[in-house]
Amino acid sequence: MAWFKKTRKPIESPGEKPSRVPEGLWVKCPGCAQIIYNKDLDKNQQVCPKCAHHFRIGAADRLRALFDDGAWTEHFRNLTSNDPLAFTDTKPYRHRLKDTKAKTGMSDAVIVATGTVDGIDIVIAAMEYAFIGGSMGVVVGEKITRALEMALERRQPAIVISCSGGARMMEGALSLMQMAKVSAALARLDRARIPYISVLTDPTTGGVTASFAMLGDLNIAEPKALIGFAGPRVIEQTIRQKLPEGFQRSEFLLDHGMLDLIIDRRELKSTLARALRFMGTHVAAAPEVPEIEPASAAADS
Ligand SMILES: [Zn+2]
Repeated sequence: MAWFKKTRKPIESPGEKPSRVPEGLWVKCPGCAQIIYNKDLDKNQQVCPKCAHHFRIGAADRLRALFDDGAWTEHFRNLTSNDPLAFTDTKPYRHRLKDTKAKTGMSDAVIVATGTVDGIDIVIAAMEYAFIGGSMGVVVGEKITRALEMALERRQPAIVISCSGGARMMEGALSLMQMAKVSAALARLDRARIPYISVLTDPTTGGVTASFAMLGDLNIAEPKALIGFAGPRVIEQTIRQKLPEGFQRSEFLLDHGMLDLIIDRRELKSTLARALRFMGTHVAAAPEVPEIEPASAAADS
């Protein structure tokens, strides 16, 4: 016999009453628990105006915030995975891809774009978390590699904005091979002395951290972003030690020399432009300095 027994029936819920507040008008900030008006958040690049908590944003929103006039040219849009392993987990990978494509309107988890940032011609690859956790499969690896090769060909700086759960398990070892492929492309960029900046956002984990996200000439992170290789639970179980507070967050990694900078999203564009100018990138639209003809110089004297 049970010790405690409910003698009375629980109070019935009054049924679903239609809410008079439209859905998604207000958001509760996970950082400071304040209620924020959605439009204020939109105006503020999805950063909490009260505590500067950075909400996760999509790849297109990121590009819009970075490129001048919010305009860019997209490349390699048609590349799509052909499910090389015919993989099935809770549902076939083929179906998962189809559903995600319909939901996000993207063909895979990265957008490769060219345009100008504060007048500097640039190639940016931005990862999209909404597409199977921003996971890196064959297509993501190929698109980022092509983006870097394009930067090499055009002699323009490259930026990769990471937001990823790591390698895509549905493509197995083929996903892991992308780490080497992208890293090799970065080495070519390095030899050609073309700047590459890695921007790490929440979350950047697994094979993405273990390859191109940590290979930037500058590694810039957003505040409080989760950045790591394996998850904290796996590490605790492996080393049988309690991990310190704030482990795998941007601030901890900066203190331990894994990152160069932590930049508020609202200042990212100006910081990137300043860094690229420092690295010797020229403004595309700047007029050429007219050369003094030796003949006219001679005529003056
Ligand atoms: Zn807040």
